[in-house]
Amino acid sequence: MRKTGYKTFRRGGIHPPYHKELSSGKAITRAPVPSRLMVPLRQHIGAPNKPLVSPGDRVTVGQKIGDADAFVSAPVHSPVAGRVEVIEDVKSFSGETVTSIIIAADAEQPPFEEQKIKPLDELSAEEIREIAGEAGLVGMGGAAFPTRVKLSPPEDKPIESVIINGCECEPFLTCDHRLMIERTDELVQALGLMIRAVGADGGVIGVESNKMDAALKLRAAVSDQPNLDVEVLEVKYPEGAEKQLIFAITGREVPPGKLPSEVGCLVQNVGTAIALYEAASAGKPLYERVVTVTGPGVKEPGNLIAKVGTPISTLIEACGGFLGETAKVIIGGPMTGWAQEDLDAPVVKGTSGVVALTPELIDVREEEACVRCAKCVEACPMYLMPNSIVEAVQHGDWEKAELWGALDCFECGCCTFTCPAYIPHVEYVRKAKAEIATLKG
Ligand code: SF4
Ligand code: SF4
Repeated sequence: MRKTGYKTFRRGGIHPPYHKELSSGKAITRAPVPSRLMVPLRQHIGAPNKPLVSPGDRVTVGQKIGDADAFVSAPVHSPVAGRVEVIEDVKSFSGETVTSIIIAADAEQPPFEEQKIKPLDELSAEEIREIAGEAGLVGMGGAAFPTRVKLSPPEDKPIESVIINGCECEPFLTCDHRLMIERTDELVQALGLMIRAVGADGGVIGVESNKMDAALKLRAAVSDQPNLDVEVLEVKYPEGAEKQLIFAITGREVPPGKLPSEVGCLVQNVGTAIALYEAASAGKPLYERVVTVTGPGVKEPGNLIAKVGTPISTLIEACGGFLGETAKVIIGGPMTGWAQEDLDAPVVKGTSGVVALTPELIDVREEEACVRCAKCVEACPMYLMPNSIVEAVQHGDWEKAELWGALDCFECGCCTFTCPAYIPHVEYVRKAKAEIATLKG
């Protein structure tokens, strides 16, 4: 492993080609509003929402249109002014079918009507959590865990430090980088809100050293706040994964199967932090987000504010359409994203990117037999033996797959990236997780 002098996680990880230059210099712009939006009722981990509107109803920008009573849930809001056409099942980016509210957007879109709640420094911890919940905030790095729940750690696990993940370690993606540069002060204020919400001592923004412009701007913005810091980290995938980021910044190891609160930390994504700022300062719910649309297969890569429910085809068109032969379109980043069969899937709260890859970037080689080189073991940041998990799955031995730590795998793909036998470890792990879940009922 190369050494850079910057902090990083203890073991494993990879250095894939990053291709960030395609869009890192592109300022955030607004994507066009499509005439028809598909807003999935479930865009979060937790209980599904029920619709609060019916076909034919008029909706306004930011109106709550789906909610659930459960604590672990997040409401959804209308991204536009328009009329509800129908409520029907729509195929999501992951291929799953999700009940969605289809809205015909008005030709003229009024701006969101801002609501002043209170000066930010007068908001209590409970009020901040309540705002995050009402605004439908979820982790926007892809995990989509409801933010209100994350800001409510167990009482016996006090949070000392709130960490903002500014690593954006997935290749190609640059939406967080742009937010850190363009909305620096709001991000710092959002960190302050999160610190207050969980009663932490302070906060740190972790930024990889390939985003030095963002790190320097953030450092200047926190220079007069002694409880805030910016840590520049080594460029290494998956530096931004929760447990790896916590180790890189604090040297603390989150035990297997435990949450960051176990070691007094809470990690939040840059986009989520900005969304909290918008909700707290203007009453704005989470109905749009910045999406990086990029890859060698896109004419004019960029970072676009897209309304939730926008088909990804609209974003590709907004970036000039495809360039040459596009072999694969991925929602999310190439390491953990989802390949798309068609381009109708809507943007959701967790959509960080749309990446169009050309044939030379795609590995189509067939899976071969393991040569026991242990490269996957060396690359695994969770200290697992991915080859042994694969072997257990191949034998249908789910007990052994669990014993080898299949449930601790967070599907980063480092093992597959390094494997000379092109073994798709993550697919095996997903199968193991599903079988183990079924066996446990
Ligand atoms: S995908 Fe899982 S097994 Fe493979 S390197 Fe990542 S954490 Fe380890
Ligand atoms: S990297 Fe691939 S070939 Fe090498 S031990 Fe792991 S699974 Fe086997």
